[in-house]
Amino acid sequence: MEIKVTQADNSDLKPRPADESQIGFGDIFSDHMFLMDYESGTGWHDPRIEPYRNISIDPAAMGIHYGQEIFEGLKAYGGRDGGIYLFRATDNFKRLNRSAGRLCMSEVDIELAMEGMKKLILLDKEWIPRSEGTSLYIRPTMLATEPHLGVRPSTTYLFFIIIGPVGPYFKEGLNPVTIYVEDFYVRAAHGGTGDAKTAGNYASSLLATEKAKEKGFTQVLWLDAKEHKYVEEVGTMNMFFLINEEVITAPLDGSILPGITRDSVIELVKGWGMKVSERRLSIDEIVESARSGTLKEAFGTGTAAVISPVGQMTYKGEDHIVAGGKMGDLSQKLYDEIVALQYGEKEDSHGWVERID
Ligand SMILES: *Cc1c(COP(=O)(O)O)cnc(C)c1O
Repeated sequence: MEIKVTQADNSDLKPRPADESQIGFGDIFSDHMFLMDYESGTGWHDPRIEPYRNISIDPAAMGIHYGQEIFEGLKAYGGRDGGIYLFRATDNFKRLNRSAGRLCMSEVDIELAMEGMKKLILLDKEWIPRSEGTSLYIRPTMLATEPHLGVRPSTTYLFFIIIGPVGPYFKEGLNPVTIYVEDFYVRAAHGGTGDAKTAGNYASSLLATEKAKEKGFTQVLWLDAKEHKYVEEVGTMNMFFLINEEVITAPLDGSILPGITRDSVIELVKGWGMKVSERRLSIDEIVESARSGTLKEAFGTGTAAVISPVGQMTYKGEDHIVAGGKMGDLSQKLYDEIVALQYGEKEDSHGWVERID
């Protein structure tokens, strides 16, 4: 399928951020976007790049009423060598299609979506920031658009990709975050949609997160829905704990998002000869190890923040300082390694990095 490109008029081009050190996260979008439409019977059609603009959908669009929406989040990295790099991008589109399956939506042709994304990035490549810690965030999104009130899968979908320059995801940057261990609200239950990147998961997480923020915490650490006992993940990141010499993360058993950064961390740490366990880890074990001093590090992993060290965890009113409230050695080593790969500064022996320009 040919991707039709309609370029924005020169007079409509937006000003790009003048000071890259002031770029936050998720507020600035480039001059163009990629779109395509789906109708059952016809399939996906009209892949196109157009000027970035408001989209028009029927107020009865099913995605608005019943939450049939999925998305992805990945980045393009502007290397110091002038190159533009993607990191495991195909895995994001594979995950998008798994999310589509869970939400009864239509899968996309991964090659077509990747081609559209790359064309879009190259068309708007002047938007890729080049300062340290910045990148171009990419947000593929699919929304049910059939105008119909009544709960069933939509017969029409809109898929689009928007992109924009970003700086650090947390205002803390690489400084350790404080985490509130939530023992009442839950994010996802077994058999639910926790392993899909779908809007509803985040809507249902807002209240607990707002309450935690009011108390001064950055993020909520979710426990399992059944026993409120086993750690799952934090807002938009998977969680890792270094206890003694064991690196531990929750298993992918349906209620947590299978993070690509999580997978990369597991592979890297294994390659460094450390013991990695994907196993259930109770909050009691963490508290015990924090008290006894065997909890060495805790960190979140995700595309947005890469590695986010945890400096403090609070559970049932008790504060636990982790790694002296600083970024631990393993967190730092992982951050340095992943970032060097992403920006094309290090030989990639994993087949993760693709240079597109
Ligand atoms: C996106 C996301 C992650 C991180 O996934 P990456 O592929 O590493 O970016 C983790 N947890 C949740 C809930 C997420 O939405």
